[in-house]
Amino acid sequence: MDDLLKLVENSKEEIKSFSSTEKNPAEAFRIRFLGTKGLIKSLMGEMKNISAENRKQMGLVLNDLKLLAEKKHEELVMMNAKGQPLIDKALDLTLPGDTLPLGSRHPISIVRNRIVSIFQRLGFGVAEGPEIEDDWHNFTALNLPENHPARDMQDTFYVSQNPAWMLRTHTSNVQVREMEKGKLPIRIICPGRVYRNETISARAHCFFHQVEGLYIANNVSFADLKQTLYFFVNEMFGEKIKIRFRPSYFPFTEPSAEMDISCLICGGEGCNVCKHTGWVEILGCGMVHPNVLENCRIDSNQYSGFAFGMGIERITMLKYQIKDLRLFSENDLRFLKQFTSAV
Ligand SMILES: [Zn+2]
Repeated sequence: MDDLLKLVENSKEEIKSFSSTEKNPAEAFRIRFLGTKGLIKSLMGEMKNISAENRKQMGLVLNDLKLLAEKKHEELVMMNAKGQPLIDKALDLTLPGDTLPLGSRHPISIVRNRIVSIFQRLGFGVAEGPEIEDDWHNFTALNLPENHPARDMQDTFYVSQNPAWMLRTHTSNVQVREMEKGKLPIRIICPGRVYRNETISARAHCFFHQVEGLYIANNVSFADLKQTLYFFVNEMFGEKIKIRFRPSYFPFTEPSAEMDISCLICGGEGCNVCKHTGWVEILGCGMVHPNVLENCRIDSNQYSGFAFGMGIERITMLKYQIKDLRLFSENDLRFLKQFTSAV
């Protein structure tokens, strides 16, 4: 045991003061210490001669030695990569510095910022709210009382210690919180992350991003809603895009509609993305239900308003022709580096 410890000590010294005149010192080091016929492997082989009570301690000592060697090897590899000689030369402060790689924005952030800036030009302000929400702000105030069947459309994550709390299923909770402040008129958009208990696939994830909009004032009509959304689509996707509204149902708006745009991939001819219809749904919208206004202490006889909501992932997938939503959260640099706009 003592002999082996002595060998370990000697090896440590050798590792620390290692130098080589070889072209690739890192490789020379690896062969000497870390290779299959290297010093550490042979020291490990001596373990079988160590008595059982000392084996654990010896194992720790050898492990330390291995870590030391691996660290030194990494340093040598880095020096090699930088083309630095192993022996330090005098530091030349006049040399240009190493350039730092400039990151790029995440495609979701790029599209969110774009959506926000379009609506800001129409006078919409940005509002934000909590991602962990209570039942009132996420459901009940939005005309979705307990046991309402439409709650099933949004499979919800509840907080297990306190089931009265949940991860918000949409950003509409921000709308409720803004309406409750009682300052009218309201003209806001609410970008943010939302959560639903969905099976993860190319088209769905358990978290995603939404932008919702809300405008409440005197005499707001469906014509205002359409005009606002026309402007948005033209700014976002260009003037040539066709738009259509289809009647729909949401508990918090009446009347409600879904808005489709002509398919960007096939130009309306029909393809896989648009399921051969020529149209792609991009958002839901409608006039705010009087019950929602009253729940938020707004007089529905005096005020009216419209609301809309869209998934940022969906808009991003259409804009950049991305086929799999999971790419957004896999942190694959090969994917992310394709998006410019560093500011
Ligand atoms: Zn198509």
